[in-house]
Amino acid sequence: MSKTASTNTATILEIVRMSTEDGPGIRTTVFFKGCTLNCAWCHNPESISIHPQLQWVGSRCIGCKTCLSVCRENALTLSEAGMQINRACCTGCGECAEECPGTALELMGKNWLMDDLVVEVIKDRAYFGTSGGGVTISGGEPTMQAGFASMFLKSLRERGLHTALDTCGQCSRGALEKVLPYAAMVLFDIKLIDPGDHKKFTGHDNRRIMDNLLFVADYIRSHVYPSEMWIRTPIIPGATATSENISGIGQFIASHLGGVVSRWELCAFNNLCRDKYRRLDQPWAFADENLISKSFIDELTETAKHSGANPDIIFATGATRLETLETQEKQESQQEVGGEI
Ligand code: SF4
Ligand code: SF4
Repeated sequence: MSKTASTNTATILEIVRMSTEDGPGIRTTVFFKGCTLNCAWCHNPESISIHPQLQWVGSRCIGCKTCLSVCRENALTLSEAGMQINRACCTGCGECAEECPGTALELMGKNWLMDDLVVEVIKDRAYFGTSGGGVTISGGEPTMQAGFASMFLKSLRERGLHTALDTCGQCSRGALEKVLPYAAMVLFDIKLIDPGDHKKFTGHDNRRIMDNLLFVADYIRSHVYPSEMWIRTPIIPGATATSENISGIGQFIASHLGGVVSRWELCAFNNLCRDKYRRLDQPWAFADENLISKSFIDELTETAKHSGANPDIIFATGATRLETLETQEKQESQQEVGGEI
């Protein structure tokens, strides 16, 4: 990609409005496409490739075969088994999705021009002001498109908006140096403290990530902007959800990130992305995994609070198994009382 293209256009997966999970207040989160890690549990598999990807939603397909005649690459085959997308042939042009009358074909990922994206997120300005929110860039890994990410945040900053960078930390120092000056805060993932486990579950050990984490902490200490960092740890059964891992991360925060980290979130695993894997024709090792029980999350939260990290900044987020059962029971009881809901 040319330098000009990298600062004026970016491949964006999705813009999510009214988010309360990606920083303080009500936020608009811009998900960049493309990731430098390949986490076994990834909840957004469609964000890993930087290229646009086609998906087919069978329940919307009316079987008209318009897409087959539109596709110049002969990448599509429709049979009783459903739509087969030959991903080796598909160029991601999106023409089939544009012509599909049932909206069964969707192209995930779109190239945005800088000015258009700025105008798009500024529409939500009224929500930011009253809630203390703003705009978060997430992914994927937004620093993969650092030139664009940097200029995008700068533009929002010049308009007085609060900005946040959500990063996995697996990126070049140069990319971080481009983006940090325009981020009011940083959300940084620490998934696994053990380098071997990190490599096993994400494809890379965590040496570069931890180096970058220390760099960001020093940067915050020596600059006005960004002013704070949140640490986020996904709680994944069989991978990150061990007392040794949580304890180790807590000790690292206590020893190296004092005065910089204002919140450490333990984010419960969810399995709502099963269908995403199916639509992308990808297997998922966690497809049969249940939500984590509330008692287990409580146990890990207690471990975190006794790890040496400031207990006042530690929070568990996300749905747990008990909450799900309670919700189901509530819905069943409402159905019994009032029929369909
Ligand atoms: S154009 Fe859309 S609705 Fe028609 S066969 Fe293709 S996917 Fe199905
Ligand atoms: S995105 Fe383009 S190349 Fe891919 S199946 Fe659709 S029309 Fe064919």
